[in-house]
Amino acid sequence: MKVRQIGAVAAASVLALSLTACSDSASDGGAGGGGGGKAFKVGIKFDQPGLGLKEGTKYTGFDVDVATYVAKELGHDAADIQWVQAPSAQRETLISTGQVDMVVATYSITDARKEKISFAGPYFVAGQDLLVRADDSSITGPDSLTGKKLCSVTGSTSAQKVKDKYPGVQLQEFGTYSECVTALASKGVDALTTDNTILAGYAAQAQYKGKLKVVGQTFSEERYGIGLKKGDTATCEKVNTAIAKMISSGEWQKAVDANLGPAGFKVDSATNPPKQDACS
Ligand code: GLU
Repeated sequence: MKVRQIGAVAAASVLALSLTACSDSASDGGAGGGGGGKAFKVGIKFDQPGLGLKEGTKYTGFDVDVATYVAKELGHDAADIQWVQAPSAQRETLISTGQVDMVVATYSITDARKEKISFAGPYFVAGQDLLVRADDSSITGPDSLTGKKLCSVTGSTSAQKVKDKYPGVQLQEFGTYSECVTALASKGVDALTTDNTILAGYAAQAQYKGKLKVVGQTFSEERYGIGLKKGDTATCEKVNTAIAKMISSGEWQKAVDANLGPAGFKVDSATNPPKQDACS
């Protein structure tokens, strides 16, 4: 009698599991969740070559590789990852409302953001730089931007830095960096500022090759973290362990070479690979 009851309970939970699996894969469509497990939602950029790029149903970049590695260490199959677009200004909201499980999107760790979410990491250290047209020799760094039209993205540390430190600059804020690149190429703005990693990716794109150049004078330290729900220390610790393993196993270097190498990006070895902060 007891054995039969246990059997019934087991059968019922198997049924429940398979029902969950069915409904998940049905609602996720082609965007992920195809592995039959529960979808794991990850916020990335969709328009930053070398970091987070969506081309049709293909997702590539260093952030995509880091997220895939970390997800696997947390027990999520690559096929169960559902990629969600996470523009700079929406990242905290996507996390706090539970629309994503984590954000891996050139997301700098800052105290202001830590008031709303928690960060694991850092997993990479970049620096703020400028992208200009290749024939422009008048812009050599942030101090030569006075009176120039500069583009950046709403909700980014890049735009904030300009407002705080270079108030004489005419700052135009868009929702994404790709909009800024288009404006730069068509002379709607004179420069674009954000992380050197992102700028290198655009400069190397076929349509901009030889037309745009990265100035190469970084003026900030951007420590990329993985955004998590505020106070989820348990997950933060697991993510930090996963990042440390990605680095010690050589997979981090492989991902750097594969994604940032083609753009000729030089990683700052004084700050990379970084040690992870304690979770709090
Ligand atoms: N890393 C900076 C930030 O998190 C700039 C790049 C971005 O907007 O994604 O704000």
